[in-house]
Amino acid sequence: MVVTLPIVSTASESDYPRILDYPWDHSPITVYIDDKNVPPHYSPAYSAQVHKALDYWEAGGNGKLKYIPVFKLVDSENADIRIRWVESLQEDQGAPEGVAGAAIPYIADERFVRVDIILGVGSYQWMRWVPYSDSAMLAISKHELGHALGLDHSTDRQDIMYPSNEQINNTHPLFAGKYGSFLLIAAYAALATIVFLSVSWLLNRRKRKKIQD
Ligand SMILES: [Zn+2]
Repeated sequence: MVVTLPIVSTASESDYPRILDYPWDHSPITVYIDDKNVPPHYSPAYSAQVHKALDYWEAGGNGKLKYIPVFKLVDSENADIRIRWVESLQEDQGAPEGVAGAAIPYIADERFVRVDIILGVGSYQWMRWVPYSDSAMLAISKHELGHALGLDHSTDRQDIMYPSNEQINNTHPLFAGKYGSFLLIAAYAALATIVFLSVSWLLNRRKRKKIQD
């Protein structure tokens, strides 16, 4: 039997893919950036990129949010959004090749309770360690924060929420880490969107071309 699925026509602004339209029931949204427990290849410039990414969204970001977020940095893990780095999502988290960052929302009653953002610091390319550039870190941070603000992946290649490589649907909990029990993730695994912002457009272009060829 052949089943024909309807083709979704051009999405209007309000149809922009979102995890939730209004994920946070309060403002400001507190953010904890863990720049103390960092992996060996962490660059001190990376946390500055996260700050820039926060500024980007406070200034309207990609224009697809239905609200203007206000962030408040806190020095406590008891924050709405918790951001940390790992050496490699492949090694530390068992994520597939090319995954540079992950945003893991915990949802209750149609709201985010918390979002954990995990960022890599580089990857192996042809057996050589290549650290992410500051601009790649900025792009990854913007993208993951976009998820933490409720946005899903865009099909527009120019959009920061476009997964620069294939997106996979996380069908099982990938992560077990320092933030304790991740059992909740199982329930929301489908929402644990993973970015394939391999390195950045620049660093990845050659490789992608090869694959397409
Ligand atoms: Zn994503």
